[in-house]
Amino acid sequence: MASTTDRATTTPSAEDLKLYELSQKYTEEAAKRFRADGSAQFFELQDAEAERLRTLAEDPWVDHAALNAQDSPVKDGGRYKFLVLGAGFGGMLLAVRLIEAGVASGPNDLRIIDKVGGFGGTWWSNRYPGLHCDVESYTYMPLLEETGYMPKSKYASGPELLEHAGRIATQWNLHDKGFFRAAVKSAHWDDATSLWNIQIVESRGPGEPSRALRVQAEYFLTASGVLVRPHAPNIPGLASFTGPMFHTARWDYSVTGGSPQESRLTGLEGKRVGIMGTGATAIQATPQLAKWAKELYVFQRTPSAVHYRAQRPTDPEEWKTKIAYKKGWQRERMANLNSYLTNAPIKGQENMVNDAWTEMPAFSAIVGCPKWGFIEPTPEKIGEHVAKLYRLDLPHSESGRARVDQIVKDPETAAQLKAWYPTWCKRPTFNDEYLPTFNLPNVHLVDTAGKGIDSATEQGLVVGDKEYPIDVLVLSTGYRGPVEGDGNPEAQLQVEIRGRGGRSLGEKWKTQGASTLHGVATSGFPNMFFLSPTQSCSSANFTQSLEVWIEHIVHIISKAEEKASERSHAVIDVTSEGEEGWAGVIMQHAAFFASIAGCTPGYLNGEGAFAQMPTSQEEMIKKARSGIWSSGMAAYEKFLDDYRSEGSLKGFEIATAA
Ligand SMILES: Cc1cc2nc3c(=O)[nH]c(=O)nc-3n(C[C@H](O)[C@H](O)[C@H](O)COP(=O)(O)OP(=O)(O)OC[C@H]3O[C@@H](n4cnc5c(N)ncnc54)[C@H](O)[C@@H]3O)c2cc1C
Repeated sequence: MASTTDRATTTPSAEDLKLYELSQKYTEEAAKRFRADGSAQFFELQDAEAERLRTLAEDPWVDHAALNAQDSPVKDGGRYKFLVLGAGFGGMLLAVRLIEAGVASGPNDLRIIDKVGGFGGTWWSNRYPGLHCDVESYTYMPLLEETGYMPKSKYASGPELLEHAGRIATQWNLHDKGFFRAAVKSAHWDDATSLWNIQIVESRGPGEPSRALRVQAEYFLTASGVLVRPHAPNIPGLASFTGPMFHTARWDYSVTGGSPQESRLTGLEGKRVGIMGTGATAIQATPQLAKWAKELYVFQRTPSAVHYRAQRPTDPEEWKTKIAYKKGWQRERMANLNSYLTNAPIKGQENMVNDAWTEMPAFSAIVGCPKWGFIEPTPEKIGEHVAKLYRLDLPHSESGRARVDQIVKDPETAAQLKAWYPTWCKRPTFNDEYLPTFNLPNVHLVDTAGKGIDSATEQGLVVGDKEYPIDVLVLSTGYRGPVEGDGNPEAQLQVEIRGRGGRSLGEKWKTQGASTLHGVATSGFPNMFFLSPTQSCSSANFTQSLEVWIEHIVHIISKAEEKASERSHAVIDVTSEGEEGWAGVIMQHAAFFASIAGCTPGYLNGEGAFAQMPTSQEEMIKKARSGIWSSGMAAYEKFLDDYRSEGSLKGFEIATAA
């Protein structure tokens, strides 16, 4: 990395020296973890060659009998106005806002399709013990104002989040619009009818043949999430492990005992359990495993930075008088949290959320910062910019490491649990139980010094020349990341998408690079909108991102719908000029993301791929196009507000078709 001094001094200060040493340490630690195969070191469970591993991707929560007994909400050959892919918080919020805007009120106006067995997305699939949202529930849980629901605690549990998805479905009558166990396979725009032809395959459970359906839709809206498809490292011999094994995204309570509501993991009593991975999920699940397993082995490649949580029940009085006390409180609170995340606290406003997220100004390296303006940092100032970020991060990253020493008694274990990378390189974690777990006599940290596990055997896992025999293996190894393929929506969705003239969306991305207007739509693929961070902006609170994207999409659709009549429907496309103009805006910001390139490998930097210099200018441009808006969510939101107020919807072309 470049010099960590941003002042012309002859004698470096103690802080300068510390930053210099730290940057050396960070570089060394990242180097231990870089691998030539990058993301290819992982395989998606659903695509595993070995059946034993492939079945680990199956939805354990789906109730096939109940769903088979219901009338299908989607009919083969049916025509619908809005087909929303994804029934997580994103798809649900989109549906709610379309209903509220008055554009989806007819019986065939709206259908929500999901591969899994019900509403909830992330919170349907993930039900591991200890699961909580890591962002304050008052800002994270969508539609709290509209539902009037008061979360039980500052950070809601997985079951409470799933229950909330059900609450939303009930309040907005979505239950009869959700089509589950249904994978969208292809979406082809038909130039003759100006409709999307969509192929869906519905799985109906063991022993039942799956059902293929073809439907038409005026709009194809994708809310396919960011961390959906569980993956695991390609460890030789993994499939041969004979004991029970499962991924945290498909927790197997038949092995562990207990339930998502009641973490009494009695099935682990007397067992040797291994958990592979120490990311955001493992931080929550490990303390629960430690309470029940006879011996728990925690296999670590890269430690997480674990900050304090201070979970507490919601005080109903505080809720009434200080939190949910006025109209518009939730969006205001989201903006307030975001202002701290982007290192630009709003003057005159108190810190409403006031938790560890609000103490990490350098997280703005990844979510943007208004202070860094539009053009800055220019390429020649990248070194200076990154140095400033390191300085900004120092107190926080140091406090995280000091916290390990304060809590973990064994000095060797404490040293191995310290995170040696800047705060913005991995999703920070917050937990008051994780670090103390390593003081328990039955818990053993198996640090692999950045290398990962060497192999698996029938009995356990091998690190270096030591085999660790285990009875139960928990894969806490994450998901396919959102930046893979430069955010190519076709690959992200695993749907074959063809636009005008049969053009492939994947091919468009490959040849042209990321191409959108405002991050929500792409030219040549009319009436298709997506919720994605590529070429837009994101927040650590994903619900805030969803609100901002959805408000924009629903506004554009509503304006277009004003032009439609009983006999014609609206057709919205992005102009090539609009798209290229936006790519220019995004590319101006691209240098900003140099801070991620030097990070230890992880899903945010494509497992290190961002650190590799593109081999040609063409590739360099494509890389630059796949960035995000870098001056933070507030500025992005204001830009979109101003754009909508101006009223011309420049860059979109609206027509009608009979
Ligand atoms: C364990 C975990 C914890 C998290 N905690 C937080 C948190 O605390 N705060 C935060 O801000 N974010 C968190 N996130 C990120 C989280 O994913 C988002 O906050 C949010 O829930 C995403 O909602 P979504 O609807 O966009 O996507 P998802 O909830 O991921 O839903 C997308 C849905 O699309 C479906 N789908 C995808 N492709 C297809 C297809 N081809 N056909 C049919 N269906 C398809 C999937 O099955 C899935 O159900 C967490 C993620 C995970 C995995």
